[in-house]
Amino acid sequence: MTAWIAREHHRFEAAGKPFVYLVPSAAIFALDDAADAVLRAVSAKPHTREELIAVLGDRVGPTLEELVRVRAVGELSAPDAPQPKVIPLAPFPLTTMVLNVTNQCNLSCEYCYEYGEDKIVDTENGKQPKFMSEETARQSVDFMLKESGSHRMAHVTFFGGETLLNFPVLKKTIAYARQRAAEIGKEVDFSLTTNATLLKPEIIEFLAANQVGVTISIDGPKEVQDKFRVFHNGTGSYDIVAPKIKELLQRHRSRPIGARVTLTSGSMDVKRIYRHLTEEMGFWEVGFAPVTTSPNRGHAIADAGYDEMLGQFRDLAYDFLEASVAGRHHGFSNIKETLEELHKGVSKAYPCGAGLGLLGVATDGDVALCHRFAGSDAHRLGTVHDGIDREAQRTFLEQHHIANKTDCHVCWARPLCSGGCYHEAHTRYGETTRPNLHYCNWIRGWTDVCLRIYGELSERNPAFLTQFDRDEAEGERVS
Ligand code: SF4
Ligand code: SF4
Repeated sequence: MTAWIAREHHRFEAAGKPFVYLVPSAAIFALDDAADAVLRAVSAKPHTREELIAVLGDRVGPTLEELVRVRAVGELSAPDAPQPKVIPLAPFPLTTMVLNVTNQCNLSCEYCYEYGEDKIVDTENGKQPKFMSEETARQSVDFMLKESGSHRMAHVTFFGGETLLNFPVLKKTIAYARQRAAEIGKEVDFSLTTNATLLKPEIIEFLAANQVGVTISIDGPKEVQDKFRVFHNGTGSYDIVAPKIKELLQRHRSRPIGARVTLTSGSMDVKRIYRHLTEEMGFWEVGFAPVTTSPNRGHAIADAGYDEMLGQFRDLAYDFLEASVAGRHHGFSNIKETLEELHKGVSKAYPCGAGLGLLGVATDGDVALCHRFAGSDAHRLGTVHDGIDREAQRTFLEQHHIANKTDCHVCWARPLCSGGCYHEAHTRYGETTRPNLHYCNWIRGWTDVCLRIYGELSERNPAFLTQFDRDEAEGERVS
């Protein structure tokens, strides 16, 4: 007699009601009483249909069939469904090009992945020029416009090192890209990431006038910022950047300005950092990311740290919920990004756009998976002069597909996580193909929080979620 067990789903509760996240379709549904009862019964232990009917009555019949159809319930004796491996067809259009206009920086943040023992690319002694030339930047723009295929909008993000150390090239690149794009009926959206130390009135005017999106790397209040984000002589940077950021926020009104915070074992007060950056400094939104580093470094986040971070993220996510229900803005960007993915039913074969819609360009014009690998020969996918190496790209896509990450096949969080960041995996395990199994509890805990917030919003302010219905070609997230 067939016994039924729980399969690929995650049950959660929100607004006092049960919901289910269906892994194969990445869809979210509210559960009726019968479906909820069946799911709870088979999650506790295997049940035959007769056993379910004995406890729950005749309503079990169609409900069980439906739950089997969506693969939330399956036969005890059946093997796990194989992961389909569909490799995207080349040429895959490029939506976001991250230009590393310099690999130099005027800060020496101890945790930075570009320096110290975690670095992939030798930026000091390697063959890479310290600054991207105007010529290479122009060739990169031509490469981007060509590889963006039929997309009308192309996204260019300037990155470093410290991006503004090469402001002259950045400025000329924007003018050139605008002109070239207009000639072929396209548009380019520009953004940059900076540590804010070099902001000055003429740069701010330029960024505002050209509607350049700005993300500031900053870790929080003075004592947090000055712990790691220091100049080469060890002096903290807070007193230098704080007035410059305030001026930027006052004068650059054409795009919302975001802060990007790196969390370490020693700076985990997410709520306080958030309040400082929004209420005291005036940022529109703040995104947090745990530091990428090998586990033996002092600033690496250990298991207990991930638990603490989850608690802090949860509190901030519920603040976000209350603001969103009341129709007020809240700038916790991590929750908003995940809510959008949940709403759109995102199910990833790859964790991010790296090597697909997103590519990083090194100072010499080498093209790599993303900005964090730019300049690394081992992760090169072509050059802006010769185009994308389709053979190398296909090998990358073959090797990194979720179908190869067998540890992830039984994980309900895989539609969003898909094994996690390649750079994190490289730093942690020396291998980009490995799933980031060291942070699964954190990923599943955070995804569960996001699902609950999604369920609450769907009950208490469904109109909030309709903002995610826009179907425009957006750029890839640059972390
Ligand atoms: S890395 Fe962990 S959390 Fe992410 S999909 Fe794989 S098993 Fe799940
Ligand atoms: S998630 Fe990791 S691999 Fe992907 S773009 Fe960001 S840094 Fe690169």
